[in-house]
Amino acid sequence: MKIKHCWILKLSKCLSFLVLIYFPILAQNGNGESDYRRYILPVFPNQTNTLAGTMGELRNTHFHTGIDIRTQGKTGLPIVAAADGYINRISVQGTGYGNALYIQHADGNITVYAHLNNFNDEIAEFVRQEQYKRQKFEINLFPAQNQFSVRQGDLIALSGNSGSSVGPHLHFDLRDENQNLLNPLEYGFHEVIDDIPPVARKIAVSTLDINSRIAGEFGRMEFDLIRQGDKYTVADTLLASGLIGLEIYAYDRQNYTFFRTGIPTFKVFINKQQVFNQNIIAFSFSDQKHINVHTNYQKKVDTGRSFAKLYIDDGNELPFFQAFNKGKIKVTEGVVLPVTFELKDTYNNSTIVEFFIKGQKSEGSYKSTSKISSGIRSEIKENTLIIRCNKDSLFNNQLKYFSKGMESLAYPAYITGNGSAVFLFDLRKVLVDFVSISNSKKYYNFKAMVPSGIPYSFYSNSIDINFSRNSLFDTVFLATRYFVNDNNQEIFHINENTEPLKNSIKVTLKTRNSYPSKTEVYAIDSKGNLGYMGGSWDGKSIIFSTTSFGDYTLATDSIPPVIRPVIVNSNNLTFIIEDKMSGIKEFRAMVNGKWLLMNYDPKKNLIWSEKLKPETRLAGDVILKVTDKAGNESIYQTKL
Ligand SMILES: [Zn+2]
Repeated sequence: MKIKHCWILKLSKCLSFLVLIYFPILAQNGNGESDYRRYILPVFPNQTNTLAGTMGELRNTHFHTGIDIRTQGKTGLPIVAAADGYINRISVQGTGYGNALYIQHADGNITVYAHLNNFNDEIAEFVRQEQYKRQKFEINLFPAQNQFSVRQGDLIALSGNSGSSVGPHLHFDLRDENQNLLNPLEYGFHEVIDDIPPVARKIAVSTLDINSRIAGEFGRMEFDLIRQGDKYTVADTLLASGLIGLEIYAYDRQNYTFFRTGIPTFKVFINKQQVFNQNIIAFSFSDQKHINVHTNYQKKVDTGRSFAKLYIDDGNELPFFQAFNKGKIKVTEGVVLPVTFELKDTYNNSTIVEFFIKGQKSEGSYKSTSKISSGIRSEIKENTLIIRCNKDSLFNNQLKYFSKGMESLAYPAYITGNGSAVFLFDLRKVLVDFVSISNSKKYYNFKAMVPSGIPYSFYSNSIDINFSRNSLFDTVFLATRYFVNDNNQEIFHINENTEPLKNSIKVTLKTRNSYPSKTEVYAIDSKGNLGYMGGSWDGKSIIFSTTSFGDYTLATDSIPPVIRPVIVNSNNLTFIIEDKMSGIKEFRAMVNGKWLLMNYDPKKNLIWSEKLKPETRLAGDVILKVTDKAGNESIYQTKL
């Protein structure tokens, strides 16, 4: 199981301000006795608190698994058991959940407390013993049923910021016996107050068929939502025709905080008939990756904004939908469809969005105010390659295109109001190699149509790719390219990184240059930065696995990691360890020939010692060995 990280990227500036609006409220009845509650909030139970994240919230690569409970912007707050039970798992990791506790309850459910600073003394002692026994910092322990019993409200840990957390908070999961994630807010935490309805910002409309149009265009178009009284609407009636899909950009808010959280429930009504329902109350870890087809992935990569699709896209196997015709809407010429969305949070606050779609094809009538840039612009949408260029740059109003070595001519599908010629190629019928107009040429390099759901192997002179049965959400049109850039680097291009993969693909790069040892594969991101991928050599080929499309190259890491002592005395050893190229693989500290536990926070590049017995002093030869992923090793030695 891959543990998904959780982060707070928002409003760090507001943290200190928000501490001021923290209202303690005691949940006691008139007799001064607390009411029985199945679960209490593990941070200051019975006092009003705020959340930085909700379960099901749309994160970069996953749905958020639980709630992020705020901890006044600091670490070290008491964390208590939400209910009676026993600790059945303890994990320590530099990334992911960091220091985390799992409690098994009598009702079958499990609560998880993540990003902790430290465990209570009894648990911490047990963890340290096990770390020393195994000589490992990262550890996963499964204590016996009677080892660590807890009662509701017992102190189990102090809050922190460990693992992949970028601000102090408690990440809290509620899971059923099968590890399905449940929405904790369904369990009546009166500590969280929410009477604010969700906020709707934009809608997007997508063509789902090559003959569909939105405002006369093929593709995807966004529209701002305008608040009118207690509803949201779009400024004008939308003009569309054919099969279309709707998306929304919206978020929830809670009282006393500016954090934006997720919305579990969306309903779509056409003509007052419900056609789509989403209600996130539970999902599994394996469902998580479907976020990449649930939201508009390209938009997310390009802008960081998550638009949730209000239809079930191809490859989306999430369990929390009901829909008529998968929520895809057929718009007929001349017919006006009243559309209503209802957005609802867990506290039953709801928001209504209302607008009209009028069936009207009106090809190319969309009046774009933007000037047409010169050259060829293109994008791929589902099975369609869209090519746009100035109509004046065409030969006889035609575009030359080449597929499998054959030259052909195409007429525009339509001309837009500002003079753009738009060509639509159904890639299932023609895999375009390149196109040319009077002043420019554009290469697409489509090589193969790769089906989803079956294993598929692609072979070429430069790149081989093995797709497993589970690699793809949907059919992919494979476009590969090999070239050597100005720095004499071999670049291997495989599709665009705006296209999601469901699971990994195995890639073989057939290199032509010669490389020294410690050369491996690196991904090149949009800013040109290299990300270590690894790989194993087989003659002049290197084989690696990846879960992203994009550009790859080869690079050599011959520089060992940097070790910078911060504190070195008989009580404490603390170092900064860094490796700019391939990254830190492992570290090992020995004092007088004995293994010393070093805690690791990769966010801070920091390691610090923790003695088996706190009262002992460190003495003798100190040797710290740090190794990077390429196998370079650095050694720090001293004597205490
Ligand atoms: Zn979280």
